[in-house]
Amino acid sequence: MVKAWCDALVHVFYPSLCFGCNNELIQGDQFLCLQCQTELGRTQFEGIRNNPVEKLFWGRADIQFAASTYYYIDKTPLQQIIHQIKYREEKELGIHMGELMGIYGSSLFNAFKTDLCIPMPLHPKKEYKRGYNQATLLCEGMYKQTGIPYNEKALVRNENTRTQTKKTRIERWENVASVFDVNEPLIIKDRHVVLVDDVITTGASTEACVHTLMQHGAKTVGVYSLAFTL
Ligand SMILES: [Zn+2]
Repeated sequence: MVKAWCDALVHVFYPSLCFGCNNELIQGDQFLCLQCQTELGRTQFEGIRNNPVEKLFWGRADIQFAASTYYYIDKTPLQQIIHQIKYREEKELGIHMGELMGIYGSSLFNAFKTDLCIPMPLHPKKEYKRGYNQATLLCEGMYKQTGIPYNEKALVRNENTRTQTKKTRIERWENVASVFDVNEPLIIKDRHVVLVDDVITTGASTEACVHTLMQHGAKTVGVYSLAFTL
């Protein structure tokens, strides 16, 4: 009774705001108001073979599956959410979105015997500046829902990534392919890995990561992201 009263009082003075639209949240809602929750564009790709994310990698990488939880569309709550996770240190929000990924992705992970999640590595300087990798937050949320462990140290992005402009397509590919490396091969070896990212757009970095993981003995690699750019 006292706790409920205190909570109500705290809510009056420090109302929680929706991360999607900034409106005040009603009690019971966490992170997002009902309106924004319904405006998140679910892809349902988890249950669709040859979905657009998988097609993106056709002829490019040997993936076990690929899917995204939501469509990335400009000026929607999801764009706000990703911005808050990446640039506003809203780590709890990142973990929450990871939990949703865990809920929607679990049947896929079960079907493909996923036993390790690997967050897409950030450039070391970027991670140092930001202090965290947003993909690791998503992995943490997924772990809370599915119990699938994650490792953010095994796959790394090398320090000196040269600029991509003024290169041929092949030079660009070679450049991207040499960007990633596996630090701890024993963690990767014979595992059914899922590579986790916030947004997949061209898939170039993802493709390079898949190659690096396979070269270092991963049994299979699947790809799962919070959002997919149409
Ligand atoms: Zn909202």
